[in-house]
Amino acid sequence: MRIIIFGPPGAGKGTISHSLIKRYGIPQISTGDLLRLSIKKMDDIGRKAKPFLDDGMLAPDDLVIPLLKKRIAKPDCAKGYILDGFPRTMRQADELEEFSHIDRVINLQSSEAVIITRLTGRRTCSQCNAIFHIKNMPPKKEGICDKCGGKLFQRDDDNPETIKKRLVAYREQTEPLISYYKEKDLLTAVDGEQEITKIVQDCIDALEA
Ligand code: ADP
Repeated sequence: MRIIIFGPPGAGKGTISHSLIKRYGIPQISTGDLLRLSIKKMDDIGRKAKPFLDDGMLAPDDLVIPLLKKRIAKPDCAKGYILDGFPRTMRQADELEEFSHIDRVINLQSSEAVIITRLTGRRTCSQCNAIFHIKNMPPKKEGICDKCGGKLFQRDDDNPETIKKRLVAYREQTEPLISYYKEKDLLTAVDGEQEITKIVQDCIDALEA
Protein backbone atom coordinates (compact mmCIF):
# COMPACT_ATOMS: atom_id res chain seq x y z
CA MET A 1 0.00 0.00 0.00
CA ARG A 2 1.32 3.43 -0.94
CA ILE A 3 -0.24 6.21 1.05
CA ILE A 4 0.20 9.97 1.27
CA ILE A 5 -0.67 11.68 4.55
CA PHE A 6 -1.36 15.22 3.49
CA GLY A 7 -2.08 18.39 5.47
CA PRO A 8 -0.67 21.64 6.80
CA PRO A 9 2.25 21.72 9.25
CA GLY A 10 0.94 20.65 12.65
CA ALA A 11 -2.06 18.74 11.29
CA GLY A 12 -0.70 15.56 12.88
CA LYS A 13 0.79 13.88 9.81
CA GLY A 14 3.75 12.48 11.73
CA THR A 15 1.72 11.28 14.73
CA ILE A 16 -0.87 9.53 12.57
CA SER A 17 1.74 8.03 10.22
CA HIS A 18 3.61 6.56 13.21
CA SER A 19 0.34 4.88 14.29
CA LEU A 20 -0.21 3.32 10.86
CA ILE A 21 3.27 1.78 10.52
CA LYS A 22 2.54 -1.28 12.66
CA ARG A 23 -0.86 -2.04 11.17
CA TYR A 24 0.41 -2.10 7.60
CA GLY A 25 4.01 -3.20 8.13
CA ILE A 26 5.31 -0.45 5.88
CA PRO A 27 7.65 2.42 6.78
CA GLN A 28 6.73 6.05 7.29
CA ILE A 29 8.85 8.36 5.19
CA SER A 30 9.04 11.95 6.33
CA THR A 31 10.96 14.27 4.02
CA GLY A 32 11.20 16.65 7.00
CA ASP A 33 12.99 13.96 9.04
CA LEU A 34 15.23 13.09 6.07
CA LEU A 35 16.16 16.74 5.63
CA ARG A 36 16.85 17.23 9.36
CA LEU A 37 19.06 14.13 9.32
CA SER A 38 21.02 15.55 6.36
CA ILE A 39 21.36 18.83 8.23
CA LYS A 40 22.61 17.02 11.34
CA LYS A 41 25.21 15.24 9.24
CA MET A 42 25.92 18.46 7.32
CA ASP A 43 26.13 16.55 4.06
CA ASP A 44 25.72 18.28 0.71
CA ILE A 45 21.88 18.24 0.79
CA GLY A 46 21.85 19.30 4.45
CA ARG A 47 24.11 22.30 3.83
CA LYS A 48 21.94 23.49 0.96
CA ALA A 49 18.58 22.82 2.69
CA LYS A 50 19.37 24.34 6.11
CA PRO A 51 18.69 28.02 5.27
CA PHE A 52 15.27 27.12 3.82
CA LEU A 53 14.18 25.09 6.86
CA ASP A 54 15.49 27.74 9.26
CA ASP A 55 13.42 30.34 7.44
CA GLY A 56 10.17 28.32 7.25
CA MET A 57 10.38 27.95 3.48
CA LEU A 58 10.13 24.76 1.45
CA ALA A 59 13.42 23.15 0.52
CA PRO A 60 14.07 23.22 -3.26
CA ASP A 61 12.48 20.44 -5.33
CA ASP A 62 15.89 19.54 -6.78
CA LEU A 63 17.05 18.56 -3.29
CA VAL A 64 13.90 16.93 -1.96
CA ILE A 65 12.86 14.81 -4.96
CA PRO A 66 16.18 12.88 -5.27
CA LEU A 67 16.27 12.46 -1.48
CA LEU A 68 12.80 10.85 -1.50
CA LYS A 69 13.54 8.76 -4.60
CA LYS A 70 16.66 7.33 -3.01
CA ARG A 71 14.79 6.50 0.21
CA ILE A 72 11.90 4.66 -1.44
CA ALA A 73 14.31 2.58 -3.51
CA LYS A 74 15.43 0.83 -0.29
CA PRO A 75 14.26 -2.76 0.30
CA ASP A 76 11.98 -1.91 3.26
CA CYS A 77 9.79 0.08 0.85
CA ALA A 78 9.12 -2.86 -1.47
CA LYS A 79 5.65 -3.49 0.01
CA GLY A 80 4.74 0.19 0.17
CA TYR A 81 5.17 3.27 2.34
CA ILE A 82 3.47 6.13 4.09
CA LEU A 83 4.61 9.47 2.73
CA ASP A 84 4.49 12.18 5.38
CA GLY A 85 5.21 15.66 4.06
CA PHE A 86 5.73 14.70 0.43
CA PRO A 87 4.66 15.90 -2.11
CA ARG A 88 4.48 19.56 -1.15
CA THR A 89 4.63 21.20 -4.57
CA MET A 90 2.99 20.55 -7.91
CA ARG A 91 6.32 19.51 -9.39
CA GLN A 92 6.87 16.98 -6.60
CA ALA A 93 3.39 15.53 -7.23
CA ASP A 94 3.98 15.32 -10.99
CA GLU A 95 7.33 13.61 -10.58
CA LEU A 96 6.01 11.27 -7.89
CA GLU A 97 3.40 10.06 -10.36
CA GLU A 98 6.18 9.03 -12.72
CA PHE A 99 8.01 6.87 -10.21
CA SER A 100 5.30 5.65 -7.85
CA HIS A 101 1.69 4.52 -7.96
CA ILE A 102 -0.34 6.03 -5.07
CA ASP A 103 -3.32 4.17 -3.58
CA ARG A 104 -4.83 6.86 -1.36
CA VAL A 105 -4.25 10.40 -0.11
CA ILE A 106 -5.53 11.28 3.36
CA ASN A 107 -6.11 14.99 3.86
CA LEU A 108 -5.84 15.76 7.58
CA GLN A 109 -7.85 18.90 8.25
CA SER A 110 -7.26 21.28 11.16
CA SER A 111 -7.97 24.91 11.93
CA GLU A 112 -5.10 27.36 12.17
CA ALA A 113 -5.68 27.93 15.91
CA VAL A 114 -5.29 24.20 16.64
CA ILE A 115 -2.22 23.97 14.41
CA ILE A 116 -0.45 26.79 16.22
CA THR A 117 -1.13 25.27 19.67
CA ARG A 118 0.11 21.91 18.47
CA LEU A 119 3.30 23.21 16.92
CA THR A 120 4.34 25.46 19.77
CA GLY A 121 3.93 22.61 22.30
CA ARG A 122 5.41 19.87 20.12
CA ARG A 123 8.44 17.92 21.33
CA THR A 124 10.28 15.39 19.16
CA CYS A 125 12.53 12.50 20.13
CA SER A 126 16.11 13.05 19.04
CA GLN A 127 16.59 9.31 18.52
CA CYS A 128 13.40 7.74 17.12
CA ASN A 129 11.52 10.88 15.94
CA ALA A 130 8.44 10.02 18.06
CA ILE A 131 6.23 13.05 18.61
CA PHE A 132 4.83 14.36 21.91
CA HIS A 133 3.03 17.49 23.08
CA ILE A 134 3.70 19.16 26.41
CA LYS A 135 -0.05 19.40 27.20
CA ASN A 136 -2.02 17.13 24.82
CA MET A 137 0.33 14.16 24.74
CA PRO A 138 3.00 14.56 27.44
CA PRO A 139 5.69 11.91 27.89
CA LYS A 140 5.57 9.94 31.17
CA LYS A 141 8.87 11.50 32.21
CA GLU A 142 9.44 15.13 31.26
CA GLY A 143 11.89 15.53 28.38
CA ILE A 144 12.32 11.77 27.84
CA CYS A 145 10.82 9.64 25.05
CA ASP A 146 8.39 6.95 26.30
CA LYS A 147 9.29 4.69 23.40
CA CYS A 148 13.09 4.63 23.36
CA GLY A 149 14.30 6.76 26.29
CA GLY A 150 15.84 9.33 23.91
CA LYS A 151 15.98 13.03 24.77
CA LEU A 152 13.10 15.18 23.55
CA PHE A 153 13.80 18.48 21.84
CA GLN A 154 11.84 21.39 20.42
CA ARG A 155 12.38 21.86 16.71
CA ASP A 156 14.04 25.16 15.75
CA ASP A 157 11.25 25.89 13.26
CA ASP A 158 8.48 25.42 15.87
CA ASN A 159 8.60 29.08 16.94
CA PRO A 160 5.68 31.48 16.27
CA GLU A 161 7.46 33.53 13.58
CA THR A 162 8.66 30.54 11.53
CA ILE A 163 5.31 28.76 11.99
CA LYS A 164 3.57 31.72 10.31
CA LYS A 165 5.92 31.46 7.32
CA ARG A 166 5.42 27.69 7.08
CA LEU A 167 1.65 28.21 6.98
CA VAL A 168 2.02 30.73 4.15
CA ALA A 169 4.24 28.27 2.23
CA TYR A 170 1.60 25.60 2.79
CA ARG A 171 -1.23 27.76 1.50
CA GLU A 172 0.65 29.00 -1.54
CA GLN A 173 2.59 25.93 -2.65
CA THR A 174 1.02 22.84 -1.10
CA GLU A 175 -2.73 23.44 -0.73
CA PRO A 176 -3.29 23.44 -4.53
CA LEU A 177 -2.45 19.72 -4.47
CA ILE A 178 -5.82 19.07 -2.80
CA SER A 179 -7.68 19.65 -6.08
CA TYR A 180 -4.96 17.74 -7.96
CA TYR A 181 -5.66 14.58 -5.92
CA LYS A 182 -9.41 15.23 -5.79
CA GLU A 183 -9.51 15.17 -9.58
CA LYS A 184 -7.70 11.83 -9.54
CA ASP A 185 -10.31 10.56 -7.08
CA LEU A 186 -7.62 9.65 -4.55
CA LEU A 187 -8.42 12.09 -1.76
CA THR A 188 -10.23 11.36 1.52
CA ALA A 189 -10.69 14.17 4.04
CA VAL A 190 -10.26 13.26 7.72
CA ASP A 191 -11.07 15.56 10.64
CA GLY A 192 -7.66 16.07 12.27
CA GLU A 193 -9.07 17.77 15.36
CA GLN A 194 -10.55 14.60 16.86
CA GLU A 195 -8.87 12.35 19.43
CA ILE A 196 -5.88 10.52 17.95
CA THR A 197 -7.50 7.05 18.16
CA LYS A 198 -10.54 8.36 16.25
CA ILE A 199 -8.36 10.01 13.58
CA VAL A 200 -6.39 6.79 13.14
CA GLN A 201 -9.64 4.81 12.84
CA ASP A 202 -10.99 7.21 10.20
CA CYS A 203 -7.75 6.81 8.25
CA ILE A 204 -7.97 3.00 8.46
CA ASP A 205 -11.61 3.12 7.29
CA ALA A 206 -10.58 5.27 4.34
CA LEU A 207 -7.65 3.03 3.44
CA GLU A 208 -9.60 -0.21 3.71
CA ALA A 209 -12.85 0.98 2.11
P1 ADP B 1 5.74 20.09 9.24
O1 ADP B 1 4.81 19.21 8.45
O2 ADP B 1 5.30 20.25 10.66
O3 ADP B 1 6.05 21.38 8.56
P2 ADP B 1 8.09 18.56 8.40
O4 ADP B 1 9.05 17.87 9.29
O5 ADP B 1 7.28 17.74 7.45
O6 ADP B 1 7.15 19.38 9.38
O7 ADP B 1 8.87 19.65 7.52
C1 ADP B 1 9.77 20.57 8.08
C2 ADP B 1 10.39 21.43 6.99
O8 ADP B 1 11.12 20.59 6.06
C3 ADP B 1 9.41 22.18 6.09
O9 ADP B 1 9.05 23.42 6.66
C4 ADP B 1 10.24 22.36 4.82
O10 ADP B 1 11.18 23.40 4.94
C5 ADP B 1 11.02 21.07 4.75
N1 ADP B 1 10.34 20.04 3.93
C6 ADP B 1 9.82 18.86 4.36
N2 ADP B 1 9.27 18.17 3.35
C7 ADP B 1 9.45 18.93 2.23
C8 ADP B 1 9.09 18.79 0.86
N3 ADP B 1 8.43 17.71 0.42
N4 ADP B 1 9.44 19.77 0.01
C9 ADP B 1 10.11 20.85 0.42
N5 ADP B 1 10.46 21.07 1.69
C10 ADP B 1 10.14 20.13 2.60
